Amino acid sequence: MAKPLAVCPICAGRLTDEVCPSCITETVQTCLRTALGDLAPPFAVSARNAPTVRGAIISALALFAGTLPEQASRLLQHWEEQTIRAAPRLPSVAATYVSVWDGGVEVRAACRWSPSLQVAFDIESVAVDGLESLDREYVELPGGAEIDVDTEKETPDGIPAREIGPPEIGDVVHHIDIHGMPNNESSAVGAIGPKSLHGDIWQIATGDGVLIDVRRAFGRDGLAGGQPVWLEYNPN
Ligand SMILES: [Zn+2]
Repeated sequence: MAKPLAVCPICAGRLTDEVCPSCITETVQTCLRTALGDLAPPFAVSARNAPTVRGAIISALALFAGTLPEQASRLLQHWEEQTIRAAPRLPSVAATYVSVWDGGVEVRAACRWSPSLQVAFDIESVAVDGLESLDREYVELPGGAEIDVDTEKETPDGIPAREIGPPEIGDVVHHIDIHGMPNNESSAVGAIGPKSLHGDIWQIATGDGVLIDVRRAFGRDGLAGGQPVWLEYNPN
């Protein structure tokens, strides 16, 4: 039997199982307009103070406009966390959460993986006593595919592991020597190219315009303002 075609759940007019881009735009606009229009009065608005309140609203919105990127990030984060709380109620598959410690000790635990949210949850607890340095974490799907995840992106409700996204401009790249070991050179990501077909490897251009492949390294660069760190990738 053919699988029924999925459509946008809002307009039903696009072949996608997620909300389509035009519905996202319209819905966010309606949502913010409604939220603003429905705000309860913080105090009594009288005939006398109404003009002052009007001016205060306008200047508050103007201040707000100056911090749009931060406000947008905060709202997006809140919405993402609310969505991720719903992960156990959405379709998921049985998978294995693998952490690699101290240069090769593998710890495996049963977990669930939500393909639509790209998060692992219900991770079985296993003893990691005596293990010190976490090298890598990934989710192994039933077919054997490995998805690198990052506990740094832990959300407050204990659903910890999100798929590693692509590099972003300004992330830090550590370069490697001819033996594949990190040398002391690093540069910032200047532009992002395509993802490779295998593994979490992306092509990027450094600020000097040099094209290299990178793979997410564990942790963040404290010296570079806590930016995510990538490692130059060169399989040869
Ligand atoms: Zn739509």
